Amino acid sequence: MKPTHIEHLGIAVKSLEEAIPYYENMLGLTCYSIEEVADQKVKTAFFKVGQTKIELLEATSPDSPIAKYLEKNPHGGVHHVAYAVEGLQAALDEVASKGVQLIDRQPRKGAEGLNIAFLHPKSTFGVLTELCEHP
Ligand code: ZN
Repeated sequence: MKPTHIEHLGIAVKSLEEAIPYYENMLGLTCYSIEEVADQKVKTAFFKVGQTKIELLEATSPDSPIAKYLEKNPHGGVHHVAYAVEGLQAALDEVASKGVQLIDRQPRKGAEGLNIAFLHPKSTFGVLTELCEHP
C-alpha cells in the first residue's frame, strides 16, 4: 500500500453547532458540507485545509462510536486518521495478510461517497486508522 495523502482527520466533538464556529472564526476555515452518516450514527461537518480535510463528528445516538469515545474523552479529540489509497480492497488484504487486525474486511460507504475501511487500533499503535478511496 502507498497512501497518497492524509485524506482527513476525524475529530470527535460533543456538538457540531458549538465546534463549527471555532473552526470558522478562529482557524479561518469554511464548513462546506454537513452530512449525516446513518450507518455510523454520526453527523459530520467538513472543512478543507489544502488537500486534507477536517471531519468533525457528532454522535446521533448513545450507541454511536463517537458517543463511546466522548465517554472516555469528554472534551472530544482526534478520533481517527484517514489515509487516501488507491485499491482499497487490495490494501486491506495486504495488511491483513501481514497480521493487522481489520475492523472492516471489506470497504463500506462513508461520508462524501468515499469507500472506507477501518484498521483496529490494537494493530496500529493506538491510532484508529481509516483507509479511503474515491470510487
Ligand atoms: Zn473519517
